Amino acid sequence: MIHAFAQHSPCTPLSPYDYTPGPLGPNDIEIQIEYCGLCHSDLHLIEGDWPAQYPLVPGHEIVGRVLRSHFKNLPPGTRVGVGWQCGACFFCDSCLQGKEASCPSKIRTCVNRPGGFADRIIIDQHFAYPLPKELDPKTAAPLLCAGITAYSPLRAHINATQSVAIIGIGGIGHLALQFARAFGASVTAISTSPEKEKEALKFGAHHFLLLNDLRPSMPPQFDFILSTVHADIDWGVLLDLLKPSGKLCCVGIPQKEIKISARQLITNNRSLCGSSTGSRFEMREMLQFAARHSICPQVEILPLSQINEAIAKLKRNEARYRLVLAQENR
Ligand code: NAP
Ligand code: ZN
Repeated sequence: MIHAFAQHSPCTPLSPYDYTPGPLGPNDIEIQIEYCGLCHSDLHLIEGDWPAQYPLVPGHEIVGRVLRSHFKNLPPGTRVGVGWQCGACFFCDSCLQGKEASCPSKIRTCVNRPGGFADRIIIDQHFAYPLPKELDPKTAAPLLCAGITAYSPLRAHINATQSVAIIGIGGIGHLALQFARAFGASVTAISTSPEKEKEALKFGAHHFLLLNDLRPSMPPQFDFILSTVHADIDWGVLLDLLKPSGKLCCVGIPQKEIKISARQLITNNRSLCGSSTGSRFEMREMLQFAARHSICPQVEILPLSQINEAIAKLKRNEARYRLVLAQENR
């Protein structure tokens, strides 16, 4: 029996929920979960923003130890992480190009199947990533979703000569500041929370701006802007801050459409793009990069039984900077 926390209808609290897992499939391993981060995508699911099947067991920033496995590369006891994606077809064009996050048959760890707010999980071994030994398992869980979501577009789009802005200094944002700094860029944090300035500078930002202080009259100054914001903001003001050929990349998922004028894109050849988590290759690379550059999520650890308090805190934008739920016996 797996002991989990589940929601039974949208916007209701999670409560203890036990289920009997099926047998291990040919590619499956079982993981004893130690820590699971609370991502804003869990909140979207819990709030009913996105379709979900109930009972819903959220959680997709998982760190734990392999419990059952017949794979030589993942023997029992191996410490692994699991993120948003836990399955792909491995046959489509995207998979063959190593871009599993774009696989039309991708399986999401906590959508239509039980996720990581539980004591154990069964997962396709292709999506269980051994943690480098330098990473502290207590703090590593947020790397598995927030970390890769920040790393993948920064790796694809920026270089050390560029100026980069990160909007929204939450779970993804505070890691994006660390990655962008490690990539050598000039880094600006843009936030709605003045009290985050000191920590944003500590994470690696050279500059800190308040979102409300951005004005259309400001000169174009960024090569790349990464938006982690889930709210509806003035996208036009951001586009005007892009230098020629600059890119605004959304990883945050606002409920409403992003309205922009074609003129703002055409002027200076700017572009708007998005990015979804990252590939299996990037995941492994990101974990090694984080270990090498001492990139570390700042977490607040709560026992899993306090999952509803954690959800309320994330909703109030009081997470600093990721809430992580731990199994009670740790
Ligand atoms: P988070 O920890 O809640 O951080 C989001 C940040 O957005 C907040 O800390 C806050 O930063 C800022 N913010 C909050 N309310 C705002 C408002 N009204 N206006 C402007 N900014 C506001 O969330 P997260 O876990 O980083 O996730 C952020 C978004 O990314 C969610 O929509 C999530 O679903 C999505 N996501 C996407 C992917 C992907 O693959 N693309 C992966 C994971 C998550 P400040 O206090 O600094 O303003
Ligand atoms: Zn996530």
